[in-house]
Amino acid sequence: MSRRSWAEPYKIKMVEPLRMMSRAEREEAIEAAGFNTFLVPSRAVYIDLLTDSGTSAMSDRQWASMMMGDEAYAGSENYFHLEEAVRRHYGYRNVIPTHQGRGAEHILSRLLIKPGDTVPGNMYFTTTKAHQELAGGRFVDVIGDRAHDPDDESPFKGNIDLFKLERVVKEAGAARIPYVCVQCNVNMAGGQPISLENLRAVRAFCDRHGIRIMLDATRAVENAYFIQQREAGQSERSIGDILLEVCSLSDGCTNSGKKDCLVNIGGFLCLNDDALAEEARNLVVVFEGLHTYGGLAGRDMEAMAIGIEESVQQDHIRARIGQVEYLGRLLIKAGVPIVRPIGGHGVFLNAAKMLPHVPREQFPAQALAAALYVESGVRAMERGAVSAGRDHATGANLYPRLELVRLTIPRRVYTQAHMDVTAESVIELARHADHVVGLKFTHEPKHLRFFQARFAPVVGSKVLRGHGEGAGCASGRCCGACRGSSRVVSAASTLNPGA
Ligand SMILES: *Cc1c(COP(=O)(O)O)cnc(C)c1O
Repeated sequence: MSRRSWAEPYKIKMVEPLRMMSRAEREEAIEAAGFNTFLVPSRAVYIDLLTDSGTSAMSDRQWASMMMGDEAYAGSENYFHLEEAVRRHYGYRNVIPTHQGRGAEHILSRLLIKPGDTVPGNMYFTTTKAHQELAGGRFVDVIGDRAHDPDDESPFKGNIDLFKLERVVKEAGAARIPYVCVQCNVNMAGGQPISLENLRAVRAFCDRHGIRIMLDATRAVENAYFIQQREAGQSERSIGDILLEVCSLSDGCTNSGKKDCLVNIGGFLCLNDDALAEEARNLVVVFEGLHTYGGLAGRDMEAMAIGIEESVQQDHIRARIGQVEYLGRLLIKAGVPIVRPIGGHGVFLNAAKMLPHVPREQFPAQALAAALYVESGVRAMERGAVSAGRDHATGANLYPRLELVRLTIPRRVYTQAHMDVTAESVIELARHADHVVGLKFTHEPKHLRFFQARFAPVVGSKVLRGHGEGAGCASGRCCGACRGSSRVVSAASTLNPGA
């Protein structure tokens, strides 16, 4: 998509100044944060691409609506607006608000998963899998193999492999599979969509075996856009229409409102089955709040109701994904290895490929994210072995094939110039990627370790050596100081990994 063909479909009414610290200050900040970008204070960040979760800019209509919060404990007017918006655009019968996506995942997992059950899904997501496991379940990945190949250009790498699914059902038995968890625009695969065709086939398969399908609809709108753009026969349909069909192929969903729904906090659980919804409401009052607010203020529900409406507008979604594509193309043009095709919510750097000198046990993606912060003040996130955690049975580190750094683009927050600066920073870092030093754990939390883990460089005290410091540039493409340093080898350039 040519950038000339569109501009952001909004103008800016209020601004939040950005601050840039010096490199020396950033070096201090990342060390104090244990080389984990999650632990860097926001005030020390220049362009924040940690996550697209809860970081959207709300519209003037959303902000204005927050003054119309009905903060009644029970039966808030805003709840009915939210219920109506979710029913209209997602199409489910029962709508239960939760404080955010994981609140819905917690309720759903407790409701449906019994100890020893198996939950197949198209690649794990951190919080989703954690809740499935806390409920005694076992997650099994049934995504197609292509999702694990960052260079595969297939348009629907989020698709489920029906042979894998069939094998899991045969092994575990349909009775021990409470549902298949279908994620839209698969986050950990790089924001890759599932096709309508695949989803219809999964539905038919599950109907034959009497198994439910629960959608992780967190990025279902972005998935609908890719269906519209890429799937045969879908280009004339509206995003809203496709979204409704996607949801109609499932029995319910969990949703983080902090992503597609354009709010800073919120989520919901939907169930078509009235009896199950009744049980879910009983659980919600224990863990989240009354079933008509689920941990949210009335004003939060109102903002989400309006955000849902705005999220399915064609000009919004085209600009949102267009901006991600714009950044991705700049990096591809410069030869930086990223996951292809470019995903919906971010650009994923192939850290394993960018840092061939850092072994997987030294967490190249974690190190690259920390180094990018030092280099530029741009904050990204590790999506590799640190996020994957350990095998529960053996305690061994899991090493997923994808070892990625995610540059996640908040919705409606940054401009094209910010994307340019981000691209320049990544390209500059890629030029001297062999200055990046691997990391080792100094503190490892038990659950969702990536959020609060701390690290130290395996040698020295810096994650990104300065020019002329240490062993020199293997690429031979760096500055004079590096070329002059002790050990210069002309290994293949990290900038042109194919060449
Ligand atoms: C963010 C996310 C969640 C969890 O939602 P929270 O609102 O952060 O609790 C679940 N699934 C996917 C795919 C997500 O991206």
